[in-house]
Amino acid sequence: MAMRAAVMFSPRPAAERPLDVVEFGEPQPKRGEVLIEVLACGVCRTDLQLCEGDLTTRALPIVPGHQVVGTVVELGRGVDTIEVGARVGVAWLGSTCGVCRFCRDGRENLCEQAQFTGWDRHGGFAERVSARADFVYPLPHELDPIDAAPLLCAGAIGLRSLRVSGIRPGQRLGLYGFGASATCTIQIARHWGCEVYVSTRSADERERAAEMGAVWTGSYDEQPPRPLDAAITFAPSGDVVIHALRALDRGGIVAINAIHLDRMPEFDYGDLWWERQIRSVANVTRSDVRELIDLAAAIPIRTTVQRYSLEQANSALDDLQSGRVHGAAVVVPGAG
Ligand SMILES: [Zn+2]
Ligand SMILES: [Zn+2]
Repeated sequence: MAMRAAVMFSPRPAAERPLDVVEFGEPQPKRGEVLIEVLACGVCRTDLQLCEGDLTTRALPIVPGHQVVGTVVELGRGVDTIEVGARVGVAWLGSTCGVCRFCRDGRENLCEQAQFTGWDRHGGFAERVSARADFVYPLPHELDPIDAAPLLCAGAIGLRSLRVSGIRPGQRLGLYGFGASATCTIQIARHWGCEVYVSTRSADERERAAEMGAVWTGSYDEQPPRPLDAAITFAPSGDVVIHALRALDRGGIVAINAIHLDRMPEFDYGDLWWERQIRSVANVTRSDVRELIDLAAAIPIRTTVQRYSLEQANSALDDLQSGRVHGAAVVVPGAG
């Protein structure tokens, strides 16, 4: 059986349309897997970095997309935890070994054998996708599939970044960049009673951040008016990490929410002194995703989405690259 999919055969700049929308072999659910009809798939900066070659490809051709909301349509052998017709989500972490030192102590995001959706395994820029049954997340039918899609990576990695940053309720948090992930993160931070300071180069994004309750907004090189307890950087730029570091109070942490950074510039040791830390945020665990789904319902987290059909998947990448996406881009295969 064939299906329509946006497939990356070789990386190239977003403006040169790295995805080909073609008939592609429909995935067959293997033992322990389910086949899912895709209702919506969010577009993440990681998809863009993979398609442009910033992130090394691990399988080619590959169907990118790792924020999938869909309906289970077929069960592979041995699956008895989920039923046909269930609404589920699929996220970045596609499988882990389950036995290594990281998997056994709750850090499966660091598993050396981990496979990732839309990087090692075909992802959700397609009509259908297969996934390990133990790596899908049941979602309530009331949740709008298109609005929920960006929660699965942008939201979940935002939650993990907050944890890595060490921020506590009532403290001052800086967000550097204000795309899909930061717009989820600010809602969680505000729910926790944090004061949020947002730095971004786009005036539109600064305006949206202020509407969402940021107490201060500015450009990357403007210093927030008070020292920050923690900061999260979303822009894939090492210079921005250093701006964030310089805004920290003593003992503060910068969490870098990026799988790829342009470079890490040299900086003065004085900026790191007083037990400041720079930490990367690598992937998410399944419990991060589950917690985020619960938190999204409880707060509730609102997402703003821009919809694209499968045929427009290249436009989604190009818009993300050029800063033309307000909120999150979502590919809707049924909209073609
Ligand atoms: Zn992602
Ligand atoms: Zn492992």
